[in-house]
Amino acid sequence: MRWRRRRALVCRQAVALMSDYLDGRLAPRDRERLESHLAACPHCSEYLAQLRVTIDALGHAEPDSLSDDAMDELVALYRRWRDDA
Ligand SMILES: [Zn+2]
Repeated sequence: MRWRRRRALVCRQAVALMSDYLDGRLAPRDRERLESHLAACPHCSEYLAQLRVTIDALGHAEPDSLSDDAMDELVALYRRWRDDA
C-alpha cells in the first residue's frame, strides 16, 4: 500500500468524492487519496457503506431495505456536503 501524506483528506472532502468513487469516475490519484482516508477513518468507511446501501436501494427499487428516515438523512447530508465542496 502506498501512502502519500502530502495532503490528507478531511471527512467532508472524502464524502464529496464518494459518489464519483462508487460510480468509478474518480481519477486514480483522487481514488488513492480517498482510499487512504477510508483506511484511517471508520466514520467515513461506515458512511460509504451506508451510501452504497442507499444507492443500491434506490437503484433496485427496494426502499424497504432502508428506512425512509435513514434515507432522507443520508441524502440530505450528502447533498449538503456536496454543495459545500
Ligand atoms: Zn473521514
